Amino acid sequence: MSIRIGILGYGNLGRGVECAIEANPDMELAAVFTRRDPSAVRIATAGVPVVHVDDATAWEDKIDVMILCGGSATDLPVQGPQYAKLFNIVDSFDTHACIPEHYAEVDKAAKESGHIGIISVGWDPGLFSLARVYANAILPNGKDYTFWGRGVSQGHSDAIRRIKGVKDARQYTVPVPAAIEAVRAGKNPELTTRQKHTRECFVVLEDGADAAYVEKEIKTMPNYFADYDTTVTFISEEELQQNHKGLPHGGSVIRTGSTGHNQENQHVIEFKLDLDSNPEFTTSVLVAYARAAYRLAKEGQLGCKTVLDIAPAYLCAQSGEELRAHLL
Ligand code: NDP
Repeated sequence: MSIRIGILGYGNLGRGVECAIEANPDMELAAVFTRRDPSAVRIATAGVPVVHVDDATAWEDKIDVMILCGGSATDLPVQGPQYAKLFNIVDSFDTHACIPEHYAEVDKAAKESGHIGIISVGWDPGLFSLARVYANAILPNGKDYTFWGRGVSQGHSDAIRRIKGVKDARQYTVPVPAAIEAVRAGKNPELTTRQKHTRECFVVLEDGADAAYVEKEIKTMPNYFADYDTTVTFISEEELQQNHKGLPHGGSVIRTGSTGHNQENQHVIEFKLDLDSNPEFTTSVLVAYARAAYRLAKEGQLGCKTVLDIAPAYLCAQSGEELRAHLL
């Protein structure tokens, strides 16, 4: 019997999960859940019901794993504990500073109801977290670096869209090549925020908007842009649609470290991602961890887990024997 997946929240990640399930023959999409009027949400898969979240309770025995696809800012802190009471869940919660608190909430709900909840799955947090932990375990004498991009930051693009006079915007986070090269060369540089990344903004203005005002508002925005070298380019709506429609992203986690009695030998560990579509890649990770959630639940395990707690073999459709023969 295939693993019955539910999607809760149908945005970029919701659509990505739907697509990723097609690539995993051991899974099937059972239903999509939304807070909106279900008749207004058109999904790509024929014959799969779109259900209002208020009716989710009726699906308790028909879903093996519910993949939560809401936003990290306000949806997942509520939806994680709420739906861990009804289902085994997987989410992509990415507010790093709040992960311990989210873990505690999901753990409590999942233990009380007898479910598994795997949180903060994706690439960062997610695969990048694994890369950081492996590298730290292996090279205790070392230094960590994470570079993001070149890629679209949805949060920064949204922040620009909220400025008066802005019709639409896309923000790319770009690593500074000289900084990455220095790290890869094992020079262990001390890098400020400004020395690691630049920010490129492509902005469509409303008719009659004040370009100088918009540019100043962006470049001086605290937390988002003030600490970076930022370029602002004004473009037409057509150009934005043509050249900036996609959601590429990626980056590198690098740890440089030394071994030897006198720390005389240097090593560099790098884990790199170059993604055409951030949501499609993130959801490919989510469905692999949904398989792990299903298997852990079958074993009778309970409570909250992160990617750090789950052995890699649980992610793969292949058996342990097949993995040992071909991928070890
Ligand atoms: P979206 O904004 O596309 O979707 C979030 C929610 O908004 C959906 O679940 C949906 O809920 C609602 N929604 C979507 N489209 C519409 C619409 N047209 N009108 C009204 N409501 C809508 O967010 P993403 O899917 O892009 O990202 C979700 C989260 O994933 C992000 O907040 C981010 O934190 C996280 N993420 C994590 C990564 C990682 O590596 N860990 C990587 C990438 C993202 P509903 O259907 O209930 O209305």
